[in-house]
Amino acid sequence: MNIDLAFGAGCEDKPESGLAIQPGATPHLALQQGHWVKLICGASYQDMPAVRLLVMLYALAGVDCVDVAADSAVIAAARRGLTDAVQLAAMLGDQLWGKVLPFPQGLPWLMVSLNDSEDPHFRKAHFESAHCPSDCDRPCVSVCPTAAIQFQGPSLGGVATDLCYGCGRCIAVCPVGQIEAQSYLASPEAFSAQQLAQIDAIEIHTQTGHREEFAQLWQRLRPWRSHLKLVSISCPDHDQVVPYLRELYELMAPLSVPLIWQTDGRPMSGDLGKGTTHAAIRLARKVLGAGLPGYVQLAGGTNAYTVDKLLELGLINHRSFASPSDGYGQIGEISRFQTARMDAASAAATIAGIAYGSYARSQVLPLIEDLEKELELWLDDGSYEQSDGRQVASLAPSTSEFPWPALDHSAFRHSLTRAQKLVGQLKFHQHFLPTRYG
Ligand code: SF4
Ligand code: SF4
Repeated sequence: MNIDLAFGAGCEDKPESGLAIQPGATPHLALQQGHWVKLICGASYQDMPAVRLLVMLYALAGVDCVDVAADSAVIAAARRGLTDAVQLAAMLGDQLWGKVLPFPQGLPWLMVSLNDSEDPHFRKAHFESAHCPSDCDRPCVSVCPTAAIQFQGPSLGGVATDLCYGCGRCIAVCPVGQIEAQSYLASPEAFSAQQLAQIDAIEIHTQTGHREEFAQLWQRLRPWRSHLKLVSISCPDHDQVVPYLRELYELMAPLSVPLIWQTDGRPMSGDLGKGTTHAAIRLARKVLGAGLPGYVQLAGGTNAYTVDKLLELGLINHRSFASPSDGYGQIGEISRFQTARMDAASAAATIAGIAYGSYARSQVLPLIEDLEKELELWLDDGSYEQSDGRQVASLAPSTSEFPWPALDHSAFRHSLTRAQKLVGQLKFHQHFLPTRYG
């Protein structure tokens, strides 16, 4: 059964044709079939309202996984975004998808990111505005992609830490070099057992040469590992990266869940230009060539250009659109251990998926304020501190009035369409002109 996503006539971001959702594609099947798509909210990004709406939009757009900061409030916001997506799909299904089943692919998995040592994803910018020269043009303000740097007066300003995700762009442009990066370690011990049980997957950020630090973190994760559905290892390129990843695999084996190698090309740069994707592709080819057990998924500089480049290079699995009767559909009938063995043996010549971070956020963040206004009567404004998803109220209409009298012209429609365009490139084998580079 294919599901046509009918796009409204008034939508400026309307794609040229409808999209067909893969039937029955769970996150695990998406990995196996090579069309796994992950939203990276940001390992340090703690803007809870934005995380909630990003997760809601990209869940509706069909991602398989959302990757968020290892922070219980952020996790609660992400869970609320997932609940919002389910409720919106039920409320708007007919208008968005025709006659449809929302989430035929299952809900996206919730992943949190941890680091075994200092890592650019786990840092916040900091400076004392009193030390800024009075004649500075404040390039730090304009370069920040999340408006995390604000000044309320000549020497009154600084970094809003919740909004900073450590991209480092302000550090590079400060003419007097007074912005420093404050690094931290995300700790699994910060979570209660109940919170840990709500997390489907973990990602460990590591770097070549950090075997001991990785081993220590892996050991600390021991009580948690049996609850997980997936482990992802994110590593940047290095001359010795392949032997290092092999060491990590030996250290983790035997794994009873699927394993992803996230090839972290040029971190947090996908919104800077189409060329940023090359480093992730280069590293993905290196890891694929090494035949390591596990799936290869790109990140770090991925954007609307990535799928086209991968297609050019023959790195996308065209079997991804094979019939579910070709054997993939049997996955639920075999044991978890057998599945993991199958996963470990599946080192193929093609990538399993793509994670989008900066670029995914840049597509919808400009519309988030308008979207919040549209939904203000519908989104409950309870505390984001609550982390037990089963108790979190979500879309809670305080009015029976439909929030979008003109849905096709709404910020919701525009932002969802942008998210769908990005996700659809790999997931639906639909290729759109990149909105920014077209
Ligand atoms: S430019 Fe990047 S590092 Fe600097 S404040 Fe903004 S998000 Fe943080
Ligand atoms: S660029 Fe540097 S000196 Fe200028 S306002 Fe920003 S932090 Fe201060």
